[in-house]
Amino acid sequence: MKTIKIDKQEWADGFDKLHESYRIMGPAKEGDCHNFKSLGKGELPDFDFQNTKLSPKSTVFPQSELIIEFTTDESKDDHHIMKEAAKDYSPRAVVGMRPCDGKSLLLVKQNFDTPDYKDPYWVRAYEATTFVGLACDDPCATCFCTTTGCGPYSEAGFDVLMSDMGDSFTAKALTEKGEKFLAAGGFAAEGDAAPLAEKKAAAEAKIVSKVETDKLADKTILDLYNAPFWDDASFACINCGTCTFACPTCWCFDIQDELKGTEGKRFRNWDSCMSPLFTLHTTGHNPRGTKTQRVRQRFMHKLKYFVDKYDSGVMCVGCGRCVRQCPVNIDIRSICDEMNSYVPAG
Ligand code: SF4
Ligand code: SF4
Repeated sequence: MKTIKIDKQEWADGFDKLHESYRIMGPAKEGDCHNFKSLGKGELPDFDFQNTKLSPKSTVFPQSELIIEFTTDESKDDHHIMKEAAKDYSPRAVVGMRPCDGKSLLLVKQNFDTPDYKDPYWVRAYEATTFVGLACDDPCATCFCTTTGCGPYSEAGFDVLMSDMGDSFTAKALTEKGEKFLAAGGFAAEGDAAPLAEKKAAAEAKIVSKVETDKLADKTILDLYNAPFWDDASFACINCGTCTFACPTCWCFDIQDELKGTEGKRFRNWDSCMSPLFTLHTTGHNPRGTKTQRVRQRFMHKLKYFVDKYDSGVMCVGCGRCVRQCPVNIDIRSICDEMNSYVPAG
């Protein structure tokens, strides 16, 4: 696959050309943070950020998504028939994703795109998208991606990985989709991948925050489930759900029907295992009725159930969003270490 040099003077013109072939999303400043949004012609992604506040998972898994429409008007031939809502799955590109978020796509894919079941909305959006990463040279103090099977120059999940070289970008095409993307922007100057190794080593050396995950697979589920540390771990949690909403690898959703007059719409909306309503049965019984049970579920899913089910590491890419944004400083790094080192008494 090719390595391309993009002079920053050519970037804006090339980016405008890309709009002829793609709908484009990229990071944009929003108040005191950055988030991904659709970019119109003339708008460039703003790369002056460490990482976005919300992950770019919304680009393929919107926070609220219309999936079905129906009518209860019996004068219409199609009354009470559920019809899939029209969607635009024309080619689009997400430009400027950090490598942790690229890797998260592959973890989520294991859930939404399996041999037995394919989530049609996620899979179609994923397949229509070209993912263009931007390597990290200035990671946050709370990033721990190098110990979650990822890293600031990780190529996993991307079609192109760009690196900022000062006056230019070096762009490595990693897939055919990536080659097409660079060609569509008219970026064709041969680049040199050799300096990337040194930049990668320098970026990795800046990541001092780490987790230990090597013993998680060997633990028995019930030992960890019954471990004595969950009450302490969850004590301060206020069940706000910030951790799960900000996380690139959290994929839980709820389905809601809305009826206005005779016209109905079915949405799927992000949901959170940290909410008591998430597991409330219509009988009134709630199998995860306490916050200790909910906090345990979040960490057991990410650090034990996923590890055992897929044998591909933890369901966390070390982006540090939940660490930075939890209002009561609950920290997955210390809980992961506690789980990894736990030995049951006796
Ligand atoms: S669990 Fe926290 S650190 Fe891990 S991927 Fe999710 S938000 Fe990032
Ligand atoms: S962000 Fe913190 S307080 Fe809020 S639900 Fe998550 S762990 Fe609990």
